[in-house]
Amino acid sequence: MRPPIDGPPTIGAPLDHGAVGEWCGGRCLVGVTGDQLISRAQRHDVGVDQLLALVGLTAGRCMICRSCHAQAVDVSRSGGEVRGLICRYCKTRVATYDGSYGPDAPFYRACRCTDRGTEWLIRIQAATAQYLERTASADSVAAGPQHRGNRAILAEIIRDVQARGVDPYNVWSTGSIESLPRLARPPAVARETGEATRRDPPLARPSCARDCQQHDEHIYIACFPTPTIVRDRDYHRGDDMTDYPISHYVGWTRQLPPVKRVAQHGRTCVDALIKIMPGTEQEEALLKAAAACPQCGQQLWYYRADPPSKPNTP
Ligand SMILES: [Zn+2]
Ligand SMILES: [Zn+2]
Ligand SMILES: [Zn+2]
Ligand SMILES: [Zn+2]
Repeated sequence: MRPPIDGPPTIGAPLDHGAVGEWCGGRCLVGVTGDQLISRAQRHDVGVDQLLALVGLTAGRCMICRSCHAQAVDVSRSGGEVRGLICRYCKTRVATYDGSYGPDAPFYRACRCTDRGTEWLIRIQAATAQYLERTASADSVAAGPQHRGNRAILAEIIRDVQARGVDPYNVWSTGSIESLPRLARPPAVARETGEATRRDPPLARPSCARDCQQHDEHIYIACFPTPTIVRDRDYHRGDDMTDYPISHYVGWTRQLPPVKRVAQHGRTCVDALIKIMPGTEQEEALLKAAAACPQCGQQLWYYRADPPSKPNTP
């Protein structure tokens, strides 16, 4: 292993890569000038202060491999939504997984930072899953139907990194191989194979087992007998950000099996699960906004803030 980068980076200061310089390839965010940083911020419609904050929180290193210097403000292929700060190798990795190189492209293994043994391959896949899960959940928190924008998404990512750290699953430290998040099949592939299941609206789809491994993404619904505080939950824009008790919870995850994600909300949430089904993040948002609970018949909207639009009442 090469020596890690120590200490917080200094933005705009002459770049001192030390032993790192020979393999990070330059153009790193820790070394760009103020003008370059401003132009990157403008290109992706995020704040310079936000980029500085995230570079500081991540010590200037790639949020996936955690070794190379971050070079790119990474955005999604489909919507241009900001996902984080990563190195050029990890950017190719995520783009390959995204389907940018076709649905059958193998997982991209290169990086500058390591000897890339088998354990590293497992960990870099887990780190990619961790990265995408964080950004997907930040996106869903920030993106009420009326409220979408890279500043809001990046604010959520920064908040989450502050709260849980850059590596919440300890992919690069103490996490055992078995406990790491798993990278589901690429969405480009899953869309094709999952289409038959998904012609029906989400609530009409057959329920999955809690340990389902067949679908790359799931929506889950919990209906609590009494209002309950749910750990590690999402909030809506304008929401009361304290942990208030809620009667329902609806979540979306790419973790497999899905119950693993549910367990992160606490045992009571696992016990209150009434349905797990294959479904997309967008369908999850629609369920929250407009659907009634299949168990108790009440609206699933569980935030204190007002729903984006009044659901139709029959
Ligand atoms: Zn990287
Ligand atoms: Zn790397
Ligand atoms: Zn399933
Ligand atoms: Zn209910």
